[in-house]
Amino acid sequence: TITPLIAGNWKMNGLRGSLEELTTLAGMLTTGEAPRALVVICPPATILAAVARQGASAGILAGGQDCHAVASGAHTGDVSASMLADAGAQYVIVGHSERRANHGETDDQVRAKAEAAIGSGLKPIICVGETEAQRDGGTADSVVAAQLAASIPDAAELHQVIIAYEPIWAIGTGRTPSNDDIAQMHNSIRRQLVDRFGDKGASIHILYGGSLKPQNAREILQIENVNGGLVGGASLLAKDFYTIISAV
Ligand code: 13P
Repeated sequence: TITPLIAGNWKMNGLRGSLEELTTLAGMLTTGEAPRALVVICPPATILAAVARQGASAGILAGGQDCHAVASGAHTGDVSASMLADAGAQYVIVGHSERRANHGETDDQVRAKAEAAIGSGLKPIICVGETEAQRDGGTADSVVAAQLAASIPDAAELHQVIIAYEPIWAIGTGRTPSNDDIAQMHNSIRRQLVDRFGDKGASIHILYGGSLKPQNAREILQIENVNGGLVGGASLLAKDFYTIISAV
């Protein structure tokens, strides 16, 4: 069985003051019932080291939101996987739809980033998901299958990678697919992982992301082949994020 994983993606939200929210979350996690999920926070890079340090005693793991595909060099403004690892990260999100849309990241680049992450000892959280037009046009399955095929490195056979299915139209909109649609997509992702990686594919986390909230977490997180969640907006408040963690 797969230990569920709940990751918070703070996106470009979070100044040093947000570390108070982390302290609150750490308090909830240490005084309450032991969480049944692995808990990861992916804050902005500027406070990643602080999150890794302050979260450690409560078992909160830290992750980056993106990394460059090479280890170091003349890449102004970029952060490499080894730098994230050096700051205390154990995970890194790669290929988030906002990176694919805002920075034109291709599947090839996402795969290169995932390889760089693995090379630095990080677990990449590889994101895939269709647009609303693709969903309406009936191509969601084939779009996601193509993204998966091209974004996951062959190294996934030997190392831990995590998949996050995030339908783009569900991100930050308050809308989610039906439970049946989530189940269908996660099952087809699972089939593809098993076809490509065999037994290993059966143990890869498949997270759901997109308007995951305290109100819908319990039903979504119990769907077959949903092995946790990638949470945006609702990860910014300790209380809401803790409720989602507790829904596992
Ligand atoms: P929301 O939870 O705000 O919809 O964001 C989802 C997401 O993009 C997480 O990576």
